[in-house]
Amino acid sequence: MTRGTKALISASALKNNFQRAKQLAPNSRVWAVIKADAYGHGSVAVANVLHDADGYAVATLGEARTLRAAGIKLPILLLAGVTQAAHLSEAADSQLECVLHCREQLAFLERLDSRETLKVWLKLDTGMHRLGFSPEDLQEAVSHLEQCANVDVVGIMTHMCCADDLSQPQITERQLKVIRGSQHEDKQISIANSASVIKWPQTHADWVRPGIMLYGATPFADISAREIGLAAAMTLVAPVIAIKQLAKGESVGYGMRWTAGRDSVIATLAIGYADGYPRHAPDGTPVWLNGKVVPLSGRVCMDMMMIDVTDLPDVKVGDLAELWGANLPVDEVGRYVDTIGYELVTRVSPRVEREMVE
Ligand SMILES: *Cc1c(COP(=O)(O)O)cnc(C)c1O
Repeated sequence: MTRGTKALISASALKNNFQRAKQLAPNSRVWAVIKADAYGHGSVAVANVLHDADGYAVATLGEARTLRAAGIKLPILLLAGVTQAAHLSEAADSQLECVLHCREQLAFLERLDSRETLKVWLKLDTGMHRLGFSPEDLQEAVSHLEQCANVDVVGIMTHMCCADDLSQPQITERQLKVIRGSQHEDKQISIANSASVIKWPQTHADWVRPGIMLYGATPFADISAREIGLAAAMTLVAPVIAIKQLAKGESVGYGMRWTAGRDSVIATLAIGYADGYPRHAPDGTPVWLNGKVVPLSGRVCMDMMMIDVTDLPDVKVGDLAELWGANLPVDEVGRYVDTIGYELVTRVSPRVEREMVE
């Protein structure tokens, strides 16, 4: 914790991005999606910054417990419900709203033993084929739940599989048609993830569920976060802990993957794959240091990685490099390492201290 390797979390960026979601979906209430420890940014800290949300959405009961234990009082939605009957009672007593997506979860209701009424969102499978009732089974589930004491079906929700792919509008349109066809007038509707908030106003409905956009990364392959008006919430930094002069022909790191094509200066950074920086990052993956982009050189180690700073004058031990963030979009790093911003930020490990900054 004392190396100086940190994920700086910008409160003003989080607020800016939340406002952007509100602007884009002005008539909808917002579940701020803070699953996976707020995509690696720290769920309690992010919830406290985004206190204007109408509620928070998480993936697991454990994540919801963490928020309630920290005194968070707003509604919390369990996006995939629970996996045990006893947890349904806990959800009700902790005032968690619970998604029910399959018959097995409906059966848990028979053992619901809680003082509070459980608020339920029924999930409709409109084409993602991951979770949810088919349109035919949804009606039966609604009727069944209307017989249950202690249960209040407040809404119907679905998830879009291709909202980030603007070249295939017909898929999103088809999913929309399915949910419109199965609407229950007295129920609220929730459809939109970040991509839908940004590009599919017809999906906004009663509640939107933005996740990645709150953190300032883009859900799209070819529209940057900046174009959407988002600001990077996480800036991942690590200090230079050593500087080496290499002669042309000398190599760096495990397996000698990178060899100096000229006399070179190599800086070693205090961050590695145990911190969540991807081990498979190739030579040339960008790192920001002292106002310039420099290339990763050699295999990423568990606790360290090396960069070529030959073209940067005056690099000193203690200088802070940025792996991604305010100066280097996480989405750009994602392109080099064959993944998306979502995966990079959620994988930053607990060893990296999170520090909330303005
Ligand atoms: C994670 C998740 C979201 C948020 O998705 P983003 O692409 O990060 O905006 C919304 N809804 C559900 C059901 C999710 O699992």
